[in-house]
Amino acid sequence: MMDISALPQAILCDRDGTLIEDEHFLNDPTKIRWIDGVKSLLKRFHQAGVKILVITNQSGVARDYFGTETVETIHGQLQTDIREMGGEIADFYYCPHHPDGTHPVYGGLCNCRKPAPGMFFNAIKDHQLTPELCWVIGDRLRDLEPGIALGMRAFLVQTGAGKDHTKLLSEQAYQTQVTVIPSFRNLLTFAVASLSE
Ligand SMILES: [Mg+2]
Ligand SMILES: [Zn+2]
Repeated sequence: MMDISALPQAILCDRDGTLIEDEHFLNDPTKIRWIDGVKSLLKRFHQAGVKILVITNQSGVARDYFGTETVETIHGQLQTDIREMGGEIADFYYCPHHPDGTHPVYGGLCNCRKPAPGMFFNAIKDHQLTPELCWVIGDRLRDLEPGIALGMRAFLVQTGAGKDHTKLLSEQAYQTQVTVIPSFRNLLTFAVASLSE
């Protein structure tokens, strides 16, 4: 039985389609649209001592759609939005690569584009995490797979690409290790006993 009073040490969160609407190669901080309920729940997790880590594939860099400074500007805006609520994102990790990318530096294979585990390894090292005490959440199976392999509790949302990926989940050997929830805000259900109003 799961102990619903046990808060995770950290939540490793996909960005597009999970925390904010997936704008397909978001390149402008004014186009950020938070998914309902995400900001206030991020604040509550922060205030309860849960580290929030954003882990995102940003192949638009490798495709020459935008530069790394654009990704960092967007992450700065996300942090500003959360701090205005009284929350804090502990760290951001992004993969700028893509195997078919045209960018001379970021095109090609890497060990960080999810489902590769590179960003997870860095987050675990940087924040001294115990994977079994962490949660991972995303709208695509590739967001979850590195976390599942490391023993994290996994949640698949129905926002973003989540509905399609819920169908794909039924073909996976690890399906019983994934909890499907409507939206990020429903994580509250799994933490409610420990979060104060
Ligand atoms: Mg996503
Ligand atoms: Zn990468």
